[in-house]
Amino acid sequence: MIITKKKTIEDITASLEGKKSVYLFGCNSCAEQCKTGGAEELKSMTETLTDKGFKVTGSSLVDETCYTQLVKREFRKVDAVKKSDAVLVLSCGAGVKCVADEAEDIGDGTQTIVPALDSMFLSSVERVGRFFEGCSLCGECVLDKTAGICPHTDCPKGLLNGPCGGVDEGKCEVMLDNDCAWVRIYTRLKAQGRLELMEEIASPKDYSTTTRPRNVLLR
Ligand code: SF4
Ligand code: SF4
Repeated sequence: MIITKKKTIEDITASLEGKKSVYLFGCNSCAEQCKTGGAEELKSMTETLTDKGFKVTGSSLVDETCYTQLVKREFRKVDAVKKSDAVLVLSCGAGVKCVADEAEDIGDGTQTIVPALDSMFLSSVERVGRFFEGCSLCGECVLDKTAGICPHTDCPKGLLNGPCGGVDEGKCEVMLDNDCAWVRIYTRLKAQGRLELMEEIASPKDYSTTTRPRNVLLR
């Protein structure tokens, strides 16, 4: 799941400065789970912007705003989207990008597209409302060698060979409340009888494998 947080209303209205009519897009997937972009947030944002003098022309709650075809359908179906001065998107950046692309492809390309959220990280979900970053999408997964604990993500220094010299009684020197990722890796590997992996020196990461923007074309 992509974790998002709300921008302040001051930031949003500053981005909408000079615009009279605004259409809203929400996301019924990750942003809904984060309480940043679902039905309740669309309703609340509609009320807030109306109070501040904007004309909210309508809203679409898309199942996944990062899915181009779903966004395209809204642009084709709802006239108000194309006729509004601006579109405010309550989703992660991938959703904002889809809306911006469709505004250019199907609209006349004159609308201002404004993100209402900041995209934070890819998360594992412990339960509703408790999200923890577990993967930084590095493109070369090494979890087979690290007992399922990500050195890029769980170690604040991203050390592929650890621990560093700062570990103190099993705690991380950067995030004092956290157990050191490499101590956790050691403990798990020991329990699994695979401690020999701690003696392998990991090669420096090849960042050329993650040159952006990345894509996958299956068909
Ligand atoms: S090594 Fe870590 S950041 Fe890379 S793919 Fe695996 S979990 Fe994700
Ligand atoms: S103490 Fe452990 S988790 Fe913290 S920075 Fe050093 S190696 Fe990484």
